[in-house]
Amino acid sequence: CGIVGYVGAAQATPFLIEGLTKLEYRGYDSAGIAVFDGEKINVEKSVGRLNALEEKIKNNLPTGTVGIGHTRWATHGRPSDRNSHPHTDCTGDFVVVHNGIIENYLHLKEDLIEKGHVFTSETDTEVVAHLMEELYDGNFEETVRKVLKKIEGSYSLVFMSRHDSDRLICTKQDNPLVIGLGEGENFIASDIPAIIARTRKTYIVSDGEIAVVKSDSVWITNREGVPITKKVFEVNWDA
Ligand code: GLU
Repeated sequence: CGIVGYVGAAQATPFLIEGLTKLEYRGYDSAGIAVFDGEKINVEKSVGRLNALEEKIKNNLPTGTVGIGHTRWATHGRPSDRNSHPHTDCTGDFVVVHNGIIENYLHLKEDLIEKGHVFTSETDTEVVAHLMEELYDGNFEETVRKVLKKIEGSYSLVFMSRHDSDRLICTKQDNPLVIGLGEGENFIASDIPAIIARTRKTYIVSDGEIAVVKSDSVWITNREGVPITKKVFEVNWDA
């Protein structure tokens, strides 16, 4: 139900927790984060309130300067630790958070299981991580494009890849998504209140746009790969 992302020079975890806290008003049943530690992507998640997640990680805060976070409002699969986001593929190299519903997930899941993928949750979302692994061709952005051709439904999605750990890729269809522009750092969120304490300069992502977000750049294209020049939207109200 809520999504956040961070790429920059600072530690990601404090912003991820802060951002998710600001999105609490949307309601949720579980929460999780994923942070790249320089070698691998560490995922921490927990059913229940954000406090439960904070309690779980407080003595061992995930370190790293690139990360994503999620609060879940379960639609497919009951609220549980396993069904909480972020979700990963079999290798743990691809990690995703998702708001919305992947309508054709059952068909995709059957197909992926036949190809040898092992699923660990009952969610619709997990197919997206496995599709990344299945379709990965050495190019993170192109693989996201291929995945988007396969999935149907509504989504805000943020992708992490261990192979390209300096960036996040995000996209949306019929669900909100915003990018916050900082100095040497950038933010992703499903709603402005999550980022307003950090920056007032934003890009409001439109349906079908794919953004490659690094610490010092945001590169936006449409599904066909054609570059899009966006206007900066300056938030002039307080959350
Ligand atoms: N459909 C996904 C799930 O049930 C995402 C729900 C949400 O938007 O939080 O896990």
